[in-house]
Amino acid sequence: MTARLLDGKALAATLRATLAARVATLPYRPCLTVVLVGDDPASAVYVRSKDRAAREAGLEARTIRLPADTSMATLLALIATLNTDPEVDGILVQLPLPPGIDAAAILQAIDPAKDVDGFHPVNVGRLAEGNALLAPCTPRGVMKLLAHADVKLAGARAIVLGRSAIVGKPVAAMLLAANATVTIAHSRTRDLAVECRRAEVIVAAVGRAEMVRGDWVADGAAVIDVGINRSADGRLVGDCATAECATHASVITPVPGGVGPMTIACLLENTVLAAEARRK
Ligand code: NDP
Repeated sequence: MTARLLDGKALAATLRATLAARVATLPYRPCLTVVLVGDDPASAVYVRSKDRAAREAGLEARTIRLPADTSMATLLALIATLNTDPEVDGILVQLPLPPGIDAAAILQAIDPAKDVDGFHPVNVGRLAEGNALLAPCTPRGVMKLLAHADVKLAGARAIVLGRSAIVGKPVAAMLLAANATVTIAHSRTRDLAVECRRAEVIVAAVGRAEMVRGDWVADGAAVIDVGINRSADGRLVGDCATAECATHASVITPVPGGVGPMTIACLLENTVLAAEARRK
């Protein structure tokens, strides 16, 4: 079998175009405010991409840049101001935050109705209950790719590799809500290859370059590769050895160009959802 490659770039472009059309009909411009603390170069690149994508979809995009030595008190005061600003629909604090800042406390300070990253405990709880409005963006992108590929989830055996709060756990919650039978694997899981081979759907989010090998994948399985890693020879690779896995899988996402582009598109969607819910 040779897997069909799932083009996340194209699907994200379609989603962004649909959102732009929806935004054009609104009597206001949904506003995404991104807070960037410090000078982490990767974060600066991500924030610029979010800003550009938001503007292209017709959203208002604001970026607030603060120095790395910003105090907790200053950051909390800024979030309190953004929470009450009627013009602001979505607040995103770019992670990672500099050492000395309690990221959990900062994320908890964001109004759940404006929490477009979906990381606030209230939104995490709603996702666990299966009724989240604002759910984390990368997992939403994973689910959209599976839906686009027409992968049947009800009753399917799915495995999620990784249990982070940002990807693994929310993806698992979403798969469960879609009636899959979900296994969550992590660094302490025994016989990972055996667990994977049992699955009809594999979502890999471990951050280990090309860890999932071809013989871990059952014939016909759907493989979604969330990982973004540098291989020893400097290439950008996922958590799955794509070419090997593609000889068994029915569909597989490439890296780059799979899940990555969906994340920002889903952030824009969350911002529009937050605006519509708050301003209705
Ligand atoms: P974390 O480091 O927070 O979590 C990694 C998870 O993988 C942990 O649960 C860890 O287990 C598990 N793990 C690590 N090594 C192994 C192993 N050898 N076997 C089994 N499980 C293992 O990473 P994130 O969830 O934040 O990100 C995962 C990957 O996804 C990264 O490559 C990241 O760059 C990428 N990513 C991509 C995004 C996108 O937009 N495409 C967005 C976010 C992340 P344990 O809990 O036991 O430590």
